[in-house]
Amino acid sequence: MDPRVLLLSPHPDDIAWSLGGTLARMRGAGAEPHVLTFFTRTRYAPTHPAHGDRLEVSRVREEEERAWARANGVLLHRATLDDSSLRGYDDDTELGAEPAADVVSKVARHVETVLSEVDPGLVLVPLAAGGHVDHAAVRIAAAKLVPPALLAWYEDLPYATTDRPELPPGCREALVDVGGYGSAKRAGVLTFASQEPEVVLPLLLAHADSVGGERVWFGDPDTADRLRFLVG
Ligand SMILES: [Zn+2]
Repeated sequence: MDPRVLLLSPHPDDIAWSLGGTLARMRGAGAEPHVLTFFTRTRYAPTHPAHGDRLEVSRVREEEERAWARANGVLLHRATLDDSSLRGYDDDTELGAEPAADVVSKVARHVETVLSEVDPGLVLVPLAAGGHVDHAAVRIAAAKLVPPALLAWYEDLPYATTDRPELPPGCREALVDVGGYGSAKRAGVLTFASQEPEVVLPLLLAHADSVGGERVWFGDPDTADRLRFLVG
């Protein structure tokens, strides 16, 4: 089977927070993880003095993401789209908004390009739990472009700790046991120092404890085999 896996990350920290244990486990089993990040231009960095400064915050967050990718053996593909903080949303209005058609189209172009470059055996797509407008744009674009047998959805954390994601009809759950990968997940989360990692980390660890791992969903039975192969 194919060792290449593509993880779609609306923002630089989403995979570390939502799938950090799964990623570490896949790496241990010999997978080749590619991460495509979409909304990398931003002014949002609540625990950094440059919070609000687009150029400086975008630079800081790129450094964090590249350090995380190096430490985790991730092959990084970065789009440079403006995130919700640069498109006129605030902390409240970015949750639950319908993504604009031009934003979905831009996301889709990047999905298409990287899908053909990487030719992965599995694609992990955010469910958009909590309804963040940037996450919703990625889910909508991926649903149009990723073949169903390659597609699995992951729950976006920390949103999914309080918001039950809306699941595609008929899909089934797969629980990835990430016991033994807690320290890898912790180290990954703490790399994103500008994003309140000390506040977020306890929520992530408590959620993994309560559900018994990291959860993904799939619609096609072949996808479960592909996932089992990748996590070893
Ligand atoms: Zn995000």
